[in-house]
Amino acid sequence: MSYAKPSRRSWAEPWKIKMVEPIRMTTLAERAKFIFEAGYNTFLLRSEDVYIDLLTDSGTNAMSDRQWAGMMLGDEAYAGSKNFYNLWEAVTQHYGYKYLVPTHQGRAAEHILSQIMIHPGDVIPGNMYFTTTRLHQELAGGTFTDVIVDEAHDPANEAPFKGNVSIAKLKRVIDEVGARKIPYVCIAGPVNMAGGQPQSMENMRAVRDLCKRHDIPIVLDATRAIENAYFIQQREPGYKTKSVAEILKEYCSYTDTCTMSAKKDALVNIGGWLATNDQGLYEEARNLVVVYEGLHTYGGLAGRDMEAMARGIVESVADDHIRARVGQVEYLGNHLLDWGIPIVKPIGGHAVFLDARAFYPHIPQSQYPAQALTCDIYIDSGVRTMERGAVSAGRDAKTGEEHFPKLELVRVTLPRRVYTQAHMDVVAESVLEVYEHREQARGLRMTYEPKYLRFFQARFERAE
Ligand SMILES: *Cc1c(COP(=O)(O)O)cnc(C)c1O
Repeated sequence: MSYAKPSRRSWAEPWKIKMVEPIRMTTLAERAKFIFEAGYNTFLLRSEDVYIDLLTDSGTNAMSDRQWAGMMLGDEAYAGSKNFYNLWEAVTQHYGYKYLVPTHQGRAAEHILSQIMIHPGDVIPGNMYFTTTRLHQELAGGTFTDVIVDEAHDPANEAPFKGNVSIAKLKRVIDEVGARKIPYVCIAGPVNMAGGQPQSMENMRAVRDLCKRHDIPIVLDATRAIENAYFIQQREPGYKTKSVAEILKEYCSYTDTCTMSAKKDALVNIGGWLATNDQGLYEEARNLVVVYEGLHTYGGLAGRDMEAMARGIVESVADDHIRARVGQVEYLGNHLLDWGIPIVKPIGGHAVFLDARAFYPHIPQSQYPAQALTCDIYIDSGVRTMERGAVSAGRDAKTGEEHFPKLELVRVTLPRRVYTQAHMDVVAESVLEVYEHREQARGLRMTYEPKYLRFFQARFERAE
């Protein structure tokens, strides 16, 4: 092997490894058996049968020595734990909201928010749906409506902010249904389902101006808002010299409330929250959290989990952390682009998204090409990825028809601070191997379909 002289200076992760977790290798024949037994659904594999686990970045992060030290300082009081106050301090300082209700994860905050704010017949506009977010809106009697810019649906379009809201579409929805039927506008940045594509600050301000005129609150899904802040710093004029922490605070300042899955940005394995500037909403949420999660000073979490979250937030807004986090995703994505493999462009913040329609053009969407691709990659190398296409999109709540979204993707998701660059090389080479044999690939047929969020537990067999 020979190495060319570099044309640039490299960056490296701002941490070193103190403890390791051995991982097991499997054979091709074993993996073919495991995925068959798992009904061709990577969610149903046992993790010990996985070599490199890129299923999700949710709760799969490596905590720092400081976070682990914080775990030993858990104040497991039923009420008023000091870790709750530390978490309050971290959230209010870095996200800027006035009030905090902790929850055990993001969907619990979505549940409480939806139950309080949505009434039957309401319409909730958002920049593309997220699975759990939309389901909680629907269970509360609302209807989600997509107001993301058209570019978001085109994997080849290289616009820098494909997570933006189309102000024209949002105006149209407000005109059609009336502001009184819109309990809030739901904004996420970056947009997970669009391939981790960010929203610009300018767009967020425009949404805020429009909503203000109609007196409609904005709820931010802040799950990966720090990655969004990093993209604003890198791509939006006027933000180069601002820190990610400053940008995050400005971004949140245009919104009224946020729900958060701390299992993503906040570098923990479990946790979430609802934060708001609205005192009335805070009081209702503080009431309702007792019903579903636990007292408002622990929200379904142990004191030690809240401490790890408080410390994780502080680490997560550091510029060098987020640069390395997104940098690793770019490293993997650029490998694939160099080899001509179809991925969503620009490369997203938390994952590289393979374009399964372009990968397997001979497999119709009704045979779930993205689901099939996750299986083929697993069989090749033991790398676990997940589907973000027709299986995830599910069925229309009213007609029962399957949604066939324009984006039929495989998400190759990187946990934070877990894998090295060498793991990324192995992943890239496995995707290349599968790509080179793409003509032989076959689609899938669904044999078992759960009623809710079917992608988690659906089972498949090979199509004829
Ligand atoms: C993961 C996620 C959620 C749900 O959070 P959980 O902690 O998994 O319940 C909501 N929104 C987005 C954008 C997410 O990625």
